[in-house]
Amino acid sequence: AGAVRLEGLAKSFDGRVRAVDGVDLEIGEGEFFAMLGPSGSGKTTVLRMIAGFERPTAGRVLLGGVDVTALPPFDRDVNTVFQDYALFPHMTIEQNVGYGLMVRRVPKAERAERVRAALAMVRLEGFERRRPAQLSGGQRQRVALARALVNRPKVLLLDEPLGALDLKLRHEMQAELKRIQREVGITFVFVTHDQDEALTMSDRVAVFNAGRIEQVGSPAEVYEHPATAFVAGFVGTSNLLDGAAAEQVVGETGLFSVRPEKIRIAHPDDPAGPDELSATGRVAEVVYAGGHTRFLVDLEAGGRLTAVRQNLDEGSADVLRHRGTDVVLAWQRKH
Ligand code: ADP
Ligand code: MG
Repeated sequence: AGAVRLEGLAKSFDGRVRAVDGVDLEIGEGEFFAMLGPSGSGKTTVLRMIAGFERPTAGRVLLGGVDVTALPPFDRDVNTVFQDYALFPHMTIEQNVGYGLMVRRVPKAERAERVRAALAMVRLEGFERRRPAQLSGGQRQRVALARALVNRPKVLLLDEPLGALDLKLRHEMQAELKRIQREVGITFVFVTHDQDEALTMSDRVAVFNAGRIEQVGSPAEVYEHPATAFVAGFVGTSNLLDGAAAEQVVGETGLFSVRPEKIRIAHPDDPAGPDELSATGRVAEVVYAGGHTRFLVDLEAGGRLTAVRQNLDEGSADVLRHRGTDVVLAWQRKH
């Protein structure tokens, strides 16, 4: 049985808002699983139903093959790390981490050893006697993690745990979370609205939209083969053509998407290869972004595509790539 199994899970608030609208999902033992979606798409509500803080309107939650839908949070072998960490401000770090064990009357010696091990896991040795106010945001995040890990849950639920951190710290903590998950080997279910975070960290991703899952797959599957227009637009830069534009460029009606980094920006005289599709257009915007530059190109056939160039050398910004320049965009045909 999977670590977590959701069957027809639904939740309405006040009998009106369909926050979660029929979710079926199986998460494997030891997986690092991300739930990705825009704000309001139902991610937190799903997580709260797994934890037991919220009663489903319909459907079932199974943990390790056991139906826990009717069980309260403390009878489920899961722990949650919340975005705001929810630490006790008047307690020391040691007391914060050990609190759950104390409540469950774990003997003092074992408690001390488990708190020590949890703090070592998140690299906070030496901070035992401090209080939350005396720690940085990143350190508080680690305390919240230690407090969840000390209970040795089968499943750890994390609701936008890095949302309060600045970008540099967030990248550091992303790597830390991966390391910790590898070392403890338990299932992580990670909620985020940040596509980069979901793609870089997880084994598999579920993409949420309006209370439903649009696609489940590996980061590469979701990115390279988006199942729906929503997934194509939400995961990665939106690069969609439809209607007349798609028909002219691809020779087929319907929705067509291509990732910006797959597009070659060529001179109008430079013919596309036999394995390539191409479209002529005019550069509408040039957006310099340090390591790369984005080019927004208005196609003659209608529609707009974004292409990306890595800035490999200083001379990358050649004459081809200024606003108003006529260009050809070319990319490999899908096989
Ligand atoms: P996400 O975590 O993806 O941002 P949520 O699960 O928090 O989304 O919310 C999904 C929808 O359910 C939103 O429309 C939200 O306003 C609504 N919602 C969440 N919790 C409640 C609640 N306690 N009462 C009423 N509506 C709620
Ligand atoms: Mg949320």
